[in-house]
Amino acid sequence: MTQCLWCEEKIEIALTFSGLFLEKAKKEYICNTCMNRLEPVSNKHDQCGTCCKPSKDKQCQDCLKWKKIYPDYDFKHRSLFYYNHFAKEYMEKYKIMGDCELALLFSSQLNNCFKSRLKDSVFIPIPISGKSLTVRGFNQVELLLENAGISYIRALENISEEEKQAKKNKKERMEMKQPFVLKNGVESQLKGKNVILVDDLYTTGRTLFHAADSLKNCFPASIKTFSLFR
Ligand SMILES: [Zn+2]
Ligand SMILES: [Zn+2]
Repeated sequence: MTQCLWCEEKIEIALTFSGLFLEKAKKEYICNTCMNRLEPVSNKHDQCGTCCKPSKDKQCQDCLKWKKIYPDYDFKHRSLFYYNHFAKEYMEKYKIMGDCELALLFSSQLNNCFKSRLKDSVFIPIPISGKSLTVRGFNQVELLLENAGISYIRALENISEEEKQAKKNKKERMEMKQPFVLKNGVESQLKGKNVILVDDLYTTGRTLFHAADSLKNCFPASIKTFSLFR
């Protein structure tokens, strides 16, 4: 029997032949009731075509602003779910309280989202600062990818010693300095590759734009960005 990792409700699964060989990443860890508390980005019609923010315009104001700062970067962001009340509760328990088993909750959804891209893409999780790593004990983005069966490379290092982003207001976040440096020797692994930068949550975009900017000297073929929540 499988139980929902969030509410402990039993999850009914139809066992098929291939189901007998289910890998960790293919199994469901979230029940339908909990799933229905989430708001999938794909269901929303009125959204920015560049960053999926709910918007009546084709491109939202934030994206227009970013385009002025990074005119040469063909930015394209995708997310699975909007950051609603349930998503906040999840992040609180998983990231802040450190319940690392919850990294599995969306593993099959994440695996589904990327399974067609696994061969032709290089996944790079956004690194957290050394301070955060000491406090939390794990990088929440890496753990999401691992549990979803997505291999990644640690191409970036977060050298910031700043306070947590959550404590900052929008203006302060937008003005944050570049926190990332490229790790030695990763250039050859990224040159000509389709890179997917992965974060847990997209708020202002500041973090992902910094990360993308720090990769440009590696000359990847493309840099797309993804976050579990938007
Ligand atoms: Zn549930
Ligand atoms: Zn946008």
